[in-house]
Amino acid sequence: MVVTAIRALTLDLDETLWPIQPVIERAEAELHAWLRQHAAATAARFDVPALQALRDAVALEFPDRAHDFTWLRRESIERALVLAGDAPELAEPAFEHFFEWRHRVVLFDDALPALQRLCGRYPILALTNGNAELARIGLAPYFVGRLSAREFGRGKPHADFFHAACSQLGLTPDQVLHVGDDWALDIEGAHGAGQPSAWICRPHHAAKPAWAQAKPWFEGADLLQLADRLGA
Ligand SMILES: [Mg+2]
Repeated sequence: MVVTAIRALTLDLDETLWPIQPVIERAEAELHAWLRQHAAATAARFDVPALQALRDAVALEFPDRAHDFTWLRRESIERALVLAGDAPELAEPAFEHFFEWRHRVVLFDDALPALQRLCGRYPILALTNGNAELARIGLAPYFVGRLSAREFGRGKPHADFFHAACSQLGLTPDQVLHVGDDWALDIEGAHGAGQPSAWICRPHHAAKPAWAQAKPWFEGADLLQLADRLGA
């Protein structure tokens, strides 16, 4: 396809703009520190891996809500509090503490300069299975909006999630380039929805899987290469 056919971008967040693993590890450690201070019995009964296991168990128990990471986290914290005999009302401030740390992301070096270039040329809609809030990270000015799996009810790789994003942009899927790091969720997902895709495969990311079907319009190691390709 030609560049001029692209009228807007849908952009993945976690691992496309910032590394996610260190942020979640830090936020989970900070959550545990908060519990040690405010809900000592819970902290004593559940270490970080035990809290993760509880969250996984809640996700299995409620498959309809497994895409809603905010609900999962809050619900699993509340369960831990109840099981340990602490006040369940502490789930809200405990979650808020976790959530604040979850937003202390460190952008990849190319992310901000690339966003500055790309947003001057294209409307960009954030499309995420995660629960990052752009305003908390200071990135809201670069986007025309955000659609999350939590808001929509299910996430990538479902085609209707991509289609909802294109509708929000007032465009057809073939006019919207989806940019992301995850082959299955972002690239095969966009392919299934009829969107062209750009695969950002950073050096620490997994290689293309053997079962790959989709043919991304762009493949590169960072977002500045994509901005170059788009002439942004
Ligand atoms: Mg991602």
